[in-house]
Amino acid sequence: MILSASIISSNFLNLKKDLQEVRDAGVDWLHIDVMDGAFVPNITVGPFILPFCKKATGMPLDVHLMINHPENLIETFAHAGADRLTIHVENNPNIVRTLQEIHKLNVAAGVVLNPGTSVHSLDSLFPFVDHILVMTVNPGFSGQKFIPEMIEKIKVIRKKIDDQNLNIKIEVDGGINGDTIASVVKAGADIIVSATAIFGHPLGIKAGVDELRQNA
Ligand code: ZN
Repeated sequence: MILSASIISSNFLNLKKDLQEVRDAGVDWLHIDVMDGAFVPNITVGPFILPFCKKATGMPLDVHLMINHPENLIETFAHAGADRLTIHVENNPNIVRTLQEIHKLNVAAGVVLNPGTSVHSLDSLFPFVDHILVMTVNPGFSGQKFIPEMIEKIKVIRKKIDDQNLNIKIEVDGGINGDTIASVVKAGADIIVSATAIFGHPLGIKAGVDELRQNA
């Protein structure tokens, strides 16, 4: 299981300290949630933050683009240090071209499904992706409650991947904490994104990470 900590729940006044603490607690990747105020009703950070995160930690950067026209910013994020770029299936008519362009930049490419998007939208995309991200909350804000109906969706995608013997990882994002992590791992998720359960744990970041690993 790969643990990816979403930096949007960190304390930006202590970003370096928080991110180094996450790395030292054994988190594998940093997850950067990029929101544009149009694709989702919130705004977070842009590509400028990536070199700082990389310099402070040396960790792989797992970038989730919740933006319209991701094709316009792929190159910028790749040059800023993204190791993985994930783009939404929704509102994305040029998705295959954009996935091919991500690969040309030597970056891992993935797609993400909102809770209301059917798994059938993936059927023609399997040859073009390294990972599939399943949103387990509605995208836009951290700290939301996990949507349990998404477990079935993870299982269906797991089966499709296994039946075709594909080398594609399943990532989950939204509401993952000590209570919900076991259910998504059991359903077949390989990469777990967590924000509040790590940065907002009452006993600190290390305790948050340990709880997630133990309960998985
Ligand atoms: Zn995300």
